[in-house]
Amino acid sequence: MNNLNRLREAMKSRNLEALLLSDPVNVGWATGFTGSFGFALVTPDGGRFLTDSRYTLQAEEQVQGLSKHSFATPQTGEGFLAENVQAMALPRLAFEGTTVAYDTFTKWQSRLVGTELYSAGSVVGPLRMIKSPGEVAKIRNACKLTDACFDHVLRLVQPGVSEWDVQLDIEFYFRRNGAELAFAPIVVSGERSARPHGQASEKKLEKGDFLTMDFGAQVDGYCADLTRTVVVGEASERHREIYGQVLKAQLAAIGAMRPGVGAAEVDSVARTILDEKQLAKHFGHGLGHGLGRVVHDGGRLGIGSEDRLEMGQVWTVEPGVYIEGFGGVRIEDDVVVTESGVEVLTHSPKELLVLP
Ligand code: ZN
Ligand code: ZN
Repeated sequence: MNNLNRLREAMKSRNLEALLLSDPVNVGWATGFTGSFGFALVTPDGGRFLTDSRYTLQAEEQVQGLSKHSFATPQTGEGFLAENVQAMALPRLAFEGTTVAYDTFTKWQSRLVGTELYSAGSVVGPLRMIKSPGEVAKIRNACKLTDACFDHVLRLVQPGVSEWDVQLDIEFYFRRNGAELAFAPIVVSGERSARPHGQASEKKLEKGDFLTMDFGAQVDGYCADLTRTVVVGEASERHREIYGQVLKAQLAAIGAMRPGVGAAEVDSVARTILDEKQLAKHFGHGLGHGLGRVVHDGGRLGIGSEDRLEMGQVWTVEPGVYIEGFGGVRIEDDVVVTESGVEVLTHSPKELLVLP
């Protein structure tokens, strides 16, 4: 079943007679449209796609399953929306309150006279978490290019090269291979690697640095997300001990993943292993997140998460240990939940690499 029909099924089960999608990621998921502005007005057996004249031709090409309509200046987005809602004679119209700004809502409300506008919370979000085989194939392609990028960038890692150089090389590699960046790559070394989401700087790599690189390609609208930490020059006992424990935690967490298992439980598997060496206190973030059209897709592997693993979900698994004044390690892979466990989609080496 295509995404639009999955959405219609979900609407039926929630008794939504009409739904307005406006978030570009959710509109893209439901319709295939990749432009920055479009409304999908979805009903159980039809609906309209609205955009402006910048995207008329693109919508004709991309949008499936909805009739296509576009406007040009001096008409406005909310004016055109009101006109179409009126033409469809909708007494009630749900929207996704999780993605609509309050100001946008009040504008809509003042224009949509005679239609009751109400929030249905997040409708597409939970559906987006379960990937179709076609979507998994796209994520697999993004992962493949991301693995190739890691292999490519390693040749550059040596004392004297700056974090910026490494970051630029990653970005250039993706762009040259026709991909987008799933997010701005994180490249942090030495003491700076204790910042889980630090930004690359002019700092040059030095002997004895941990170097953490977190990056991913976006291919056909789907993201990969990979982190590897390597050591520059020479690894100490402390480097090896921390790295070994993070790897052990990651492998155990991946091994515990299968349909039906709670997301919080998977997180605690990793945390328990880190605590064998009193390292859990240095692991301040969650174990992972959903991955898909955006790098932080729905779902969270972490303390207090109520998510449960289901076949077709794609997760990152990324334990980390960050020690102020010394440095940090994170190892991140992407996995898809299968019938009996998970398949790991990223394949970059995980034994501790000491470069050059
Ligand atoms: Zn990442
Ligand atoms: Zn991540």
